[in-house]
Amino acid sequence: MIYPTYEQADISLQDPAAVRQVFLEGYENGLSACQYGAVASYIPELAKADGSAFGLYAWKKDGTILDLGDTTTRFSIQSISKVINLAVALKYRGFRDVFSHVLMEPTGDAFNSILKLDMVESRPFNPMINAGAIQVMSLLEPEFSFEDLLAFAREICLDEEIRLNEEVYRSEAETGDRNRAIAWLLKSKEVMQGNPDRITDLYFKMCSLNVTAKSLAGLGLVLACGGLNPFTGKHLIAPGYVRTIKSVMFTCGLYDESGEFGVRVGLPAKSGVGGGIVCSAPGPMGIGLYGPALDPKGNSLGGLTALEHISHRLKLHVFDYE
Ligand code: GLU
Repeated sequence: MIYPTYEQADISLQDPAAVRQVFLEGYENGLSACQYGAVASYIPELAKADGSAFGLYAWKKDGTILDLGDTTTRFSIQSISKVINLAVALKYRGFRDVFSHVLMEPTGDAFNSILKLDMVESRPFNPMINAGAIQVMSLLEPEFSFEDLLAFAREICLDEEIRLNEEVYRSEAETGDRNRAIAWLLKSKEVMQGNPDRITDLYFKMCSLNVTAKSLAGLGLVLACGGLNPFTGKHLIAPGYVRTIKSVMFTCGLYDESGEFGVRVGLPAKSGVGGGIVCSAPGPMGIGLYGPALDPKGNSLGGLTALEHISHRLKLHVFDYE
């Protein structure tokens, strides 16, 4: 992992020029870290991504934006869709119901591991690993069509242009045997109801939504605003559910690197193997990153590098206080 060395943290969020400079440095550090990562190849369509691409979009409630690098390229949202699915599940099924089907514990295992599921506890450990996300999807599939979930994704990401990436979806479905196995295992243990093939199909479609770094910044901003679209005033999710979602992101959002990210960056975030990271920060501010060159754990190397610099220099870590 390539991280910048620590320097004195002394920049105020109230100083726009200094903040901009910190973001620029973070962006440049991230960009140069991309050369040490590798694009995901286990889904053939993902292997076509440009590993040198890097973009960072920061969006504040007052409309201030910082738009650096590759922020308009569409790429698949992948695991970041787990945040959206969880939001819909909490909104329509409620906290108690959702967390009677899935736990809220980090695993320290790979995102698609079935180890704990079969050996420790039948319910998936959390909604950010594949087993947990598939379980959450089983709560949605009887009630919600793909179009319903897409409409919510567009709203919560402040991006009406989000669409299904058909190529990624096909590639995902063709190579998704492990996810189907997870769904059938959950069904066999009677912790999941419903049709595993239909549930995984909806899961694959949600992973294949085409977003940009800006869409992810939009999602981060809505979460930072407690579930409110700050530009329309519309409440998209209740603040209590947002607190739950951000807590799960903080503890489980960066695969089996979530603990290290919590220490180094200290903000709620979620990554995807398409190279995206959504981060919700004080300000309130949403930060969206795109850098498909991944580290060995599956996180965008440029994204991690940029976020650590920015969080440290602006003292954004949730345990920074003055
Ligand atoms: N489509 C991916 C899978 O389930 C999601 C991977 C990810 O971004 O973690 O394999």
